[in-house]
Amino acid sequence: MKKHNYSAGPCILPQEVFEKSAQAVLDFNNSGLSILEISHRSKDFVAVMDEARALAIELLGLEGKGYQALFLQGGASLEFLMVPYNLMKVDGKAAYLDSGTWANNAIKEAKLFGETIVVASSKAENYNHIPTEYTIPTDANYFHCTSNNTIFGTQMKSFPITNVPVVCDMSSDIFSRTLDFSKFDLIYAGAQKNMGAAGTTLVVVKEEILGKSGRTIPSILDYEKHIKAESMYNTPAVFAVYTCLLTLQWLKKQGGIAAIEKINDAKANLLYNEIDRNPLFIGTAVTKDRSSMNATFLLVDEKNQETFDKMWKDAGISGLAGHRSVGGYRASMYNALPLESVQVLVDVMKELEEVVSVQSQLAE
Ligand SMILES: *Cc1c(COP(=O)(O)O)cnc(C)c1O
Repeated sequence: MKKHNYSAGPCILPQEVFEKSAQAVLDFNNSGLSILEISHRSKDFVAVMDEARALAIELLGLEGKGYQALFLQGGASLEFLMVPYNLMKVDGKAAYLDSGTWANNAIKEAKLFGETIVVASSKAENYNHIPTEYTIPTDANYFHCTSNNTIFGTQMKSFPITNVPVVCDMSSDIFSRTLDFSKFDLIYAGAQKNMGAAGTTLVVVKEEILGKSGRTIPSILDYEKHIKAESMYNTPAVFAVYTCLLTLQWLKKQGGIAAIEKINDAKANLLYNEIDRNPLFIGTAVTKDRSSMNATFLLVDEKNQETFDKMWKDAGISGLAGHRSVGGYRASMYNALPLESVQVLVDVMKELEEVVSVQSQLAE
């Protein structure tokens, strides 16, 4: 039986993506060949890459606005260093918002390249909120932020207005909500959170910000070289890119980002309402910054843990354990997780309340 998969990543993808990609492993486009054995330069795969790049731009509403989409490798973690390599000038500086572990990792890499100003941090409160009230130096080469903090369950609901290029790690909420994406100059996202199989990273970059760093950039790390090669500078992650294409096609059929956002909001409301209503649970993120993708919560009384864990596992739920730096539970509700799966979790939480109330009556 298919599980209700709350894994933070790699994560659930639409069922039709599993089916179509499985079919392509056996026979891709009735070619008599598996997608795993064709040349990445073959006509069929070049078409996959071209459509995936175009569809990413289209779904983000960035057509004709000077952006290029790339499917690279090395995960979001490699972007932590490709961004400063390409954008931080020699003797320049960059500004970073420290809103979580991933942001912090990005900061560590930037420091290898030059002056890295942390404009604000919520680390002292274990990243339970998004820092506000900061200023971005007007002479920074770029400002870097993380739209959704996968581990801590917080999400930026608004973005600062600044004259410097804005770079955003959207690994865990890309394609999940409507934003004016033209306000960003570079967006990157590891595929495995909301887009496809692990192994590729989507980079969407406004071309005019490139070529200004004055650095000699190794070819494989140079965005301009990847653009020139149409995202085929070297062998791309063929299968992972194909799963991204299938997911983006599925998303377009659902009605695009605006349509999926409504469902994502409904899922998040359903779960957060229960976390707030049910006296046995407590959320860990500050309410106004709660993520619609990753909900983090704790049991008020740890003695209920064994019972609760058995109950959700028996209900066919998988991947609910919290990250070690927060503990408790994390429900990742990415695009492909159906509303029904959230209802199953909420029902289990209500059931736990009944079980605990009966136990305490018996104890009296
Ligand atoms: C998972 C994640 C990363 C790291 O992604 P990799 O592809 O494993 O390098 C970076 N940023 C955010 C926000 C993430 O959720």
